[in-house]
Amino acid sequence: MRFGLYFSNLFLSQQIFLFSLFSFTSSSLFAETNYQKNSSSILGPRVSLKSDWVGTNKVKSSLQILVMAGHADSQGLAGAGTSGSAVALYGSKPMDPTISDELFWNLKVRDAIVKLGKARGLNISSYEPGIRNIDDGNDPKTNWSFGARHIREGGYAFEIHFDSYGEFGFGSGLIPAITRSLNTVDESLARRFGRYPLFFRGGLGAPRRGIRILEIGKLEGKLEEMLRSSSSQKETIDYVALQIVDAISDGLNLD
Ligand SMILES: [Zn+2]
Repeated sequence: MRFGLYFSNLFLSQQIFLFSLFSFTSSSLFAETNYQKNSSSILGPRVSLKSDWVGTNKVKSSLQILVMAGHADSQGLAGAGTSGSAVALYGSKPMDPTISDELFWNLKVRDAIVKLGKARGLNISSYEPGIRNIDDGNDPKTNWSFGARHIREGGYAFEIHFDSYGEFGFGSGLIPAITRSLNTVDESLARRFGRYPLFFRGGLGAPRRGIRILEIGKLEGKLEEMLRSSSSQKETIDYVALQIVDAISDGLNLD
């Protein structure tokens, strides 16, 4: 257990204790202060690429929000998502041998976001393509096609991802859509998670279709360890979902 070298049980207990506090006092100043500390310690590094866009377009508080799990339709040879450092570097078993660890967590976080978002009064839903490998990105059942339709109808769509470990990843942050009309939800997510440049990697498939990509954090270190540990898994998923729902709620109310 290589991770045992870094993380004591005491550390885990403290984190779990703090998570419980967030669940009940997320709007208080106390929780916000702790959030700042935990955000950097649990989600790992933020993206540090130069980026200067600002999301200023106002949106209605009833904005229809669609959340999708990154790689839910692309579990073939290419584009399956990161296997995470535990599997790739340290010999751990995949969480589910039929899908990448990234997708395993993306699905759980997607569902937690919708559950919490609905409880908080957001107009939010998710999309499940139902087929784990669709080769043609333009097939009507893909995340990209469904998300693009949602956007054409006036909604906001984003895919959640965990970034690659080590030198292969950049860290947490929002990859914006390639559009002139970035809005206050984009701005709020970028402030909380980090801000990728507008033309990251020359413009990825999702952002070209108007779909935002939220990199939650690199699938390594404390974040991955806390997701994989049965004693902290649910709290960690709920914590990540809370950060996202809070950021969206703030973005809907920014002036
Ligand atoms: Zn991904």
